[in-house]
Amino acid sequence: MKELELINEVRRRFAGGSGRAVRLGIGDDCAILRTQPGHETVVTTDFTLEGRHFRRDLHPPESVGHRCLARGLSDIAAMGATPIAAFLSLAVPSDLMAKTKGRAWIERFFNGLGALAKRNQVPLAGGDTAESPGNAVLADIVLLGSLPAGKALRRSGAKAGETIYVTGALGGSATELQSMLAGNNRKKSARIIRTKIFSTADHPQMFPEPRIVIGEVLRRRGLATACIDISDGLSTDLAHLCRASGVAAEIDSNAIPLHPLARTLQPAAALDAALHGGEDYELLFSAPASVHIPRKIAGISITRIGKFVPKSAKKPMMTLISPENARATLEPGGWEHFSHRR
Ligand code: ADP
Ligand code: MG
Repeated sequence: MKELELINEVRRRFAGGSGRAVRLGIGDDCAILRTQPGHETVVTTDFTLEGRHFRRDLHPPESVGHRCLARGLSDIAAMGATPIAAFLSLAVPSDLMAKTKGRAWIERFFNGLGALAKRNQVPLAGGDTAESPGNAVLADIVLLGSLPAGKALRRSGAKAGETIYVTGALGGSATELQSMLAGNNRKKSARIIRTKIFSTADHPQMFPEPRIVIGEVLRRRGLATACIDISDGLSTDLAHLCRASGVAAEIDSNAIPLHPLARTLQPAAALDAALHGGEDYELLFSAPASVHIPRKIAGISITRIGKFVPKSAKKPMMTLISPENARATLEPGGWEHFSHRR
């Protein structure tokens, strides 16, 4: 498959995907977007680099495409915005454009990306495609979202005394990755792909579900004062929010919702996966104690995990409180860019 063929195929597949905001999608020199009066546009870009964010021998191509879009959508969700368009710049080694057994790696990549795009009604409105000079796949996704002016959920709005909540369950992604690294998942993942069960519940690492609807509900109903997505790990992203808001946090370790996969680990390892494992595309947000937060939003459980307290030089920025009421400093231990932790 040549570049033009690929673009034509992508265009065919995403044709009609011109959502409310996209007046003109793939096919011209630029896309044309319509901006809604009284709204603001939020923009995020995320790299997906082979060897850094995924491994071709572990992640099936559908998962790579899915995760590529999920990263951007999760940032849009964290702002409480509605996604309006995605743009994708791709560098692909030429052998992945070639068909083996009737399908090319890159087509399967677009199957995964396309399924998630469709579910979230976000049109792929453009991009760029080039042959990778090396042997690695590099993808950069740009996501645009829209929301009423001044209403974005920022990291900086949390106040001492407010309650800390997370969506969904944590530690599943890191646990599944461990099992993939141990070689347990190869046969299973082939079966998933054949039967097209791109299921987040069973595969939090391969097919994480960004929490778009929850972000929209939090913003629309004015429930959250601050929000962040915790794809880099609860401990790392909570630290970002504490710094941005100028508060300290106390987390009740017993309250942290563990993913069923994480619960198969020893308790200490499960807690470690939930706190530091990362790649759980969940939201962490704060709300005043007086605000009623539903136990579920869009079918996903919302769990209270602690509270924000005044920051002080004498106290750690983040404290983990055990069921026996023992206090320990919580250090950011999640995904560090360029750390080569993984
Ligand atoms: P140009 O030379 O103007 O950059 P291209 O031939 O690269 O045009 O792209 C033609 C059209 O295909 C454009 O609308 C562009 O946005 C779209 N496109 C190219 N690559 C991708 C991709 N990977 N994903 C989505 N759209 C793409
Ligand atoms: Mg181009």
